[in-house]
Amino acid sequence: MASSKAVNIRLPPLPTIRDLVKLYRLRAIRQLSQNFLMDERLTDKIVKAAGNINNHYICEVGPGPGGITRSIIKCCPKKLIVVEKDPRFLPTLELLQEACKSSMEMNIEIEDIKKYNLEMGFEGAPQFSWFEAPPPINLIGNLPFSVSTHLVINWLQAISEKTSAWKFGRSSMTLTFQKEVAERMVAPVTHKQRCRLSVMCQLWCNVQYKFTIPGKAFVPKPDVDVAVVTLSPLKYPMINLPFKMVEKVLRNIFNMRQKYAVRLKLFKLADVDHTTRPFEISNEEFARICYAYKVICEENPGIEDYNSRGPKKSLEALS
Ligand code: SAM
Repeated sequence: MASSKAVNIRLPPLPTIRDLVKLYRLRAIRQLSQNFLMDERLTDKIVKAAGNINNHYICEVGPGPGGITRSIIKCCPKKLIVVEKDPRFLPTLELLQEACKSSMEMNIEIEDIKKYNLEMGFEGAPQFSWFEAPPPINLIGNLPFSVSTHLVINWLQAISEKTSAWKFGRSSMTLTFQKEVAERMVAPVTHKQRCRLSVMCQLWCNVQYKFTIPGKAFVPKPDVDVAVVTLSPLKYPMINLPFKMVEKVLRNIFNMRQKYAVRLKLFKLADVDHTTRPFEISNEEFARICYAYKVICEENPGIEDYNSRGPKKSLEALS
């Protein structure tokens, strides 16, 4: 159980991340979009954005040479799992594992996070009801942008199904994104950046843009700035429909792919003005549109295969 008292571990003297990167010749591989954070104040700030993690179960995704990992260890979680795809980082991560072994458990998994079983990783963590406070479980990571966006969609689906890390309750996430993507994730109704990702995130989570990290803070420097975002699953999600169905309805609405007659029918049933442009539709209205789609599907058996992209089996076929 989390304690409110901040407890810090003092690590034995270790070479700096910059020295380790040099020592082990860990040159960042551009094709893998590797950009490292060497500034301890920044890695501490990212971990602080996750809240009090003392005594928590943490999964860090993409630790690389271990900058954020050190900041996590300093907060003394109960268990830390690091999931890193690139085996070159094993020696530096083992160094940290050795340094903290008397205070906490640290597991190193050399694996792709997309294949890693979080439910097994968090085995032994306390299970909280969805309606209680969040469990002492956090996902933290500075991943390549393409991976973090893909991951957040997969994790939203797991949240909607209460599986994976969300079998334990409303586990929270602290992740980095390209600044523009983070702005889209938090974009409110009528904001020019509002898109499908904004609505998907906001239907299931409280999304907070924490702070910006300038590109120049990374080695090598990426072409864009980076933002730290926290996602906390809502106690009462704004929708309770299959994730794929919601995803499909939103995709069609934002792409303006449905026929006029379909839009008229759907929006009328949802009590939303059919002339409203997608970015002007609120989360509540989107939820109603998805429920209206479900009703229409029930009345028209055969079109409800929302997993299919086939032309006959989508919103476009609803005429
Ligand atoms: N966390 C380190 C830091 O902040 O300095 C490294 C950040 S670097 C942007 C991203 C890290 O994620 C790299 O170490 C990369 O090898 C790792 N990575 C990329 N794709 C991954 C995946 N699918 N699963 C696990 N790790 C991944």
